[in-house]
Amino acid sequence: MTFPDPKIAIRDVDVVPLRIPFAQPFTFAAPHESMRDSVEVLLVRLHTDAGLVGIGETQAWRRQGSFETLTGLHATITQIFKPILVGRSPFDVGAIMQRLAAAADHSLYAQAAIGDALYDLMGKALGVPVYQLLGGRCRDTVPVGLALSITAPDAMVEQGKAAFAAGYRHLRIKIGLDPALDVTNVRRMREHFGDDVVLRADANGGLSFSQALPLLKKLEPFDLDIIEQPVPGWDLDGMAALASSVSVPLSADESLNTDHSLVEIVRRRAAAVVQTKTGKNGGIHGIRRLWAIAQAAGIGIFPGNHPGTSVATAAVAQTCIAWPGPLLVGDFQTGSASMLGADIVREPIRVVDGSVRVPDVPGLGVEIDEAQLKRFRIDG
Ligand SMILES: [Mg+2]
Repeated sequence: MTFPDPKIAIRDVDVVPLRIPFAQPFTFAAPHESMRDSVEVLLVRLHTDAGLVGIGETQAWRRQGSFETLTGLHATITQIFKPILVGRSPFDVGAIMQRLAAAADHSLYAQAAIGDALYDLMGKALGVPVYQLLGGRCRDTVPVGLALSITAPDAMVEQGKAAFAAGYRHLRIKIGLDPALDVTNVRRMREHFGDDVVLRADANGGLSFSQALPLLKKLEPFDLDIIEQPVPGWDLDGMAALASSVSVPLSADESLNTDHSLVEIVRRRAAAVVQTKTGKNGGIHGIRRLWAIAQAAGIGIFPGNHPGTSVATAAVAQTCIAWPGPLLVGDFQTGSASMLGADIVREPIRVVDGSVRVPDVPGLGVEIDEAQLKRFRIDG
């Protein structure tokens, strides 16, 4: 019996900064900045002596918990991570990720792109999809929800109708800019859709505790499955106090970054659900650790990511396919199938009947479209 030869070594690390427009400007609750029209993406390519190239993505998100810029991510990866990576086999992923974490504290966003590229490389070297490296197929498709931008009630319902027609049955309403508008939006959505959709709300940490408590009480009658991050990421005591005061389960997103942050959420009973994101939480390598802790603590898991391309979408979807435990229907971003106006891969991941599939090809399952990369790269 012969085995594929996994003895390949990384010889170069190539980093591509990109700015990709949203299909529509998106509004969420955030002091001083509520609307964005594009996302900054960093694509990492790990080149090997065998000719294989592994790809991974992260984003310069710069909202609660993220201070990253494309320039900063570029420097972290090329100056600190590259010397650690060159000469190593991607199959040393555990040891490599440990080294990266030790070499640059608070570098989960940069680690995410490297770790996911290592998994892509391993899959390509062995000729198997990434989910086979993570324990094998546990589900065939990954149902996804959709996040709706904050807008006036009529437009909110129109957004919801379009999402419903596209097959989505889990809709996330962004709240937190205006309590009266939030209540009206949620009420109008529930009146329009009845029990046909699961509705949830996400304040992106935009409320103070004293704003959040009365708003959440007013939202209780509308059967939301969760309300996400009503108060800022740092306010775990506020999350815990709200969790014990309202009947709707709370989800933590901006409060969740490292393993330690999740242990603290568990310890304080600050959330019943957590939202992981590939960039925020260190890619496939990091989110699987968080999911294991969450599952052990009886906390529900929303798989997710920041708006990003099909590369990041594939990383989440591969991880979901291989996860043996329960997963909630995350409204994880699906490249040009959701918020982005364009993608950087030849065949963007699609959402069919509200679900994502991953192609049965080696690695993450997506191939870079060089023309699109050239179009959106911002380093000349
Ligand atoms: Mg969120």
